[in-house]
Amino acid sequence: MNKFLLLIAMLVFSSTLSAQSLMNNYQYEINLINEKNNKIQVSFVPPKNNLKEGKFVMPKLIPGYYDALNFGRYISEFKAFNKKGENIAVKRLDTNTWIIPNLKNVAKITYEVSGGWEHLMQKISSAKSPESMFKKDSVFVINYNSLAGYFEEIKNRGYTVTVKKNRGFYASSALDYISKNDTTDIVSAKDYRRLVDAPVLYCVPDTTWIKIGNTNVLVSFYSKEDQSYSKTLSAKIEKILINQQAYLGGKLPVNKYAFLIYHEKIPKGMMGDGLEHNNSTVCLYGSETLDKLPEALMGIASHEFFHILTPLNVHSEEVQNFNFLNPILSRHLWLYEGMTEYATIHMPIKQHMITMQQFLKNIEGKIKGMDGFNNRLSMTEISTNAIKMQDQYMNFYQKGALLGLCLDIRLRELSNGKTGTQELMQMLIKKYGPEKPFRDEDLFNVITALTFPEIRQFFKDYVETGLPIPLKESLQKAGLDYRESTKTVIEINNPSTAQLSLRKAWINQ
Ligand SMILES: [Zn+2]
Repeated sequence: MNKFLLLIAMLVFSSTLSAQSLMNNYQYEINLINEKNNKIQVSFVPPKNNLKEGKFVMPKLIPGYYDALNFGRYISEFKAFNKKGENIAVKRLDTNTWIIPNLKNVAKITYEVSGGWEHLMQKISSAKSPESMFKKDSVFVINYNSLAGYFEEIKNRGYTVTVKKNRGFYASSALDYISKNDTTDIVSAKDYRRLVDAPVLYCVPDTTWIKIGNTNVLVSFYSKEDQSYSKTLSAKIEKILINQQAYLGGKLPVNKYAFLIYHEKIPKGMMGDGLEHNNSTVCLYGSETLDKLPEALMGIASHEFFHILTPLNVHSEEVQNFNFLNPILSRHLWLYEGMTEYATIHMPIKQHMITMQQFLKNIEGKIKGMDGFNNRLSMTEISTNAIKMQDQYMNFYQKGALLGLCLDIRLRELSNGKTGTQELMQMLIKKYGPEKPFRDEDLFNVITALTFPEIRQFFKDYVETGLPIPLKESLQKAGLDYRESTKTVIEINNPSTAQLSLRKAWINQ
């Protein structure tokens, strides 16, 4: 009954969209069946236009990755055709852009896309990358930033993508794929940013749905080693999400979420990477066996899911109007990555999932992790120059997380325990949300106005100027002793009532 109603709703929705698409949309077709030499055939009909010339763009950068990835390098055999099927000569300007003359007469554009896998194999030893497109064995991991582009002159248009796929393959994604027949799916996205924001895993399904409050969560898994493992993984994910929900005040700010998890057997050790999106996360894992996977998943899945707070619900104009070719980076990576990583280490202690000793070990891990970086640089500067400062950027996951800890304790101190970073994030979500960005230069003043005047100086000193973060002083306030010579953190003997009450407010211990 429910399924039937859903189907009718989808049909009405899709026919409205396709009527529009004849006029204004990008109409893409992707063929996963005739894939040859690791290359996928792609074609599209441009939106109706009157342009003498068009500049076609493949992304140089994408949201969530702070390095130039140049997706144009995977494109070959780029051709344009008029209504009669005649070839129109195109000019490739550089890696990521093409000039198409007489765009108004172009009826179709075709090209081939190679998988990003082999290249990335060389770059990161034996790793695939969660923002690339690749095919392996019987699975396709598709990120549309690898497959689709846009015209500089025709932005903010809808996308309709028809996917030709193997019989039996299922599309796992945050977007709703409509099955036209056994080998054809159709999906629509409001614009390019939203298309790129929803990767898809195509394979014979091993999927489990869980419900957390009002949020429907899809756990989709692919491994050559095990075709029915999503249930095991979803039990672990469910436990994390229930705790994250409680940590976030009882409600998750999304209705649907998808974990797309790919596993591959590697000889020794374990590797993992994830990339967050508004309503999904792609996680890639390599390990010898599956038994340690649920545990390893906890760290990455937890971090990526916490991104639903920021940048997804709290972000600047630079993120909202992301320029895929020449992006201006926001100055607030301390927020997007630092605060996300802080929530990832703070939530387990606050929710009584780990012991005090484990929590202190995690803090020590971050302190040691800071070692390889220049800790006197302005975080604002590293943020806006992240592409050039790749050697410093990873410090947002170390020092950035510890900055979050210091901010949390400072806020608890000023508010008599009432307000910390959890409450701050809720206030910011309320003020902004997914479609309302903040101005980059305003954020520190906004947070100060929402909290305490003293907080402006905190940001000036530790984010803008780059003074060493006040770790010893902050931990002391919660009755913890940070010994800089040994980089260890221990509980002090006989803490005062004030220290104990701040500790209680901060980590519920
Ligand atoms: Zn992150």
